[in-house]
Amino acid sequence: MSSTPPPASAAGTLHAGVLTDWVCPFCALLCDDVAIHVSADGALDAPDTRCPRLAQALASYGGGAARTSASIDGATASIDDALARGAQSLARARKPLFGGLATDVAGMRALYALAAACGATLDHLNGDALAPGILAQQDRGSFFATLSEVRTRADLVVVFACRPAERHPRFYERALGHGDVARRIVFVGGDADPAAVEYAGRVKNVTVETLLPRAEPHDTLARWSALVESRSGHARHTGDDTAALATLTEQIGAARFTAFVYDPATLPGDHRALLIEALSRIVKAMNRTVRAGALALGGNDGATTANQTLTWLSGMPLRTRVAKPTRLAGQPPLDHDPYRYRTNGLLERGEADLLLWVASLGAQPLPAALDPAVPAIVLGHPTLAGAIAARGASTVFVPVATPGIDASGHLFRLDNTVVLPITAARGAVGGLALPSVSEVLTRLGERVATIAVGAGASTAALSASTAGLSASTAGLSASTPTASASTPTASASEVVAVPLAVASHGTASAPEAASPSAGAQQGATPSPGAPA
Ligand code: SF4
Repeated sequence: MSSTPPPASAAGTLHAGVLTDWVCPFCALLCDDVAIHVSADGALDAPDTRCPRLAQALASYGGGAARTSASIDGATASIDDALARGAQSLARARKPLFGGLATDVAGMRALYALAAACGATLDHLNGDALAPGILAQQDRGSFFATLSEVRTRADLVVVFACRPAERHPRFYERALGHGDVARRIVFVGGDADPAAVEYAGRVKNVTVETLLPRAEPHDTLARWSALVESRSGHARHTGDDTAALATLTEQIGAARFTAFVYDPATLPGDHRALLIEALSRIVKAMNRTVRAGALALGGNDGATTANQTLTWLSGMPLRTRVAKPTRLAGQPPLDHDPYRYRTNGLLERGEADLLLWVASLGAQPLPAALDPAVPAIVLGHPTLAGAIAARGASTVFVPVATPGIDASGHLFRLDNTVVLPITAARGAVGGLALPSVSEVLTRLGERVATIAVGAGASTAALSASTAGLSASTAGLSASTPTASASTPTASASEVVAVPLAVASHGTASAPEAASPSAGAQQGATPSPGAPA
């Protein structure tokens, strides 16, 4: 990474200039080739990168963001006072819900430690898109492909029932490169993505086709599964759709590497996990004779980061409740349930008596299902300040730094196994710097521990929790897995950070300590009060 002149750190003074090879945090592709221009007043622009999502995000960072105030019940307050009030609410809560979770690795580590101290349930704002993929992986496993594999090896790309560029605008140029490999992109179960057609028009060696664009996805996958499992010996005589799928299957058999691309968020119906399982079965069956892998799109707003970090720390993926160290006899330390612990369900059923909402990567609003009487603590993007203040009573707002804009950190890419370092584009503006999510949570946790000790709680248990909070921040630089280079090519410097293993859904029964990676692989359950 180079820049002219070098940018300031989060705590330093802003210098106007151009920062090249900046990693964009605004979708899970984490493009690492962006040149970001920083103005003297802190305004940001990336004129050389064609991405509407990036342009829209950068437009929300005016030079005055760092002057955004914290608030209590809609009235301006200092951050210290806001945290004191938030700690009082959190110490009283019996069923706190930590939602949003749009943060970086350090923020998620601190969230897990605080959840262990408070007995909180964790769910991401994109949990509805995340859960089906987790369920399918728990039940069936998967053959997954990384962006590097797709870019360097895939001569056939099968896009199932989605338009990748809608939520990841630079998908084609980042995942498929610039025409160095001859490829066919075949859209199955939907129309061709207009961005793919545009990409094929300006890059040599790429063609775009569609197959069965109006077919029902469940039917398509049922027929296709039967075909690849050789249960339809007369495929060419059972209808045009099946014949078309048989032809595609033959083409996959002749391809060097086929990448199956799908987006869990846009799969239709209430049974998306079944569709993902069916796709996984097809990919597995093809791997008996040829190489193929699946690339699930998603992970935006820090979803992949939150899920991978929680899995690495606890052995459980998202939608998990973490019990306090002082839990009742027989209560499990961790309880993972992708249905029961859905944010909107908990709020609609009145099963959460406080919401801690973290939205540092964008102005994600509070859930509509949140009752006005339920206290909310919001660690949010500065542009959320007005909307949160308008909620009035029972609301605390603390503006926080965005990873990649005001603070450095780490995020997981959408292919799950690669962590990229994120560099602050501008640091402090006008001598002011917003605190990071992990910094705010550490201060909040210390106040909660103080209140609980004053109320006579077990000091041993609480000190374990706060020790975990301190460790989650102090140990970040030593233990956060990083990738030293990030361009999605088959580079030896691209580090696979965390085993992509997810414990089966259910309840953890034994509070045994385990190394994070071993816990994730074997479903062992480390003590939630002592995060790695
Ligand atoms: S595609 Fe995503 S990561 Fe890449 S520049 Fe656009 S918003 Fe940023």
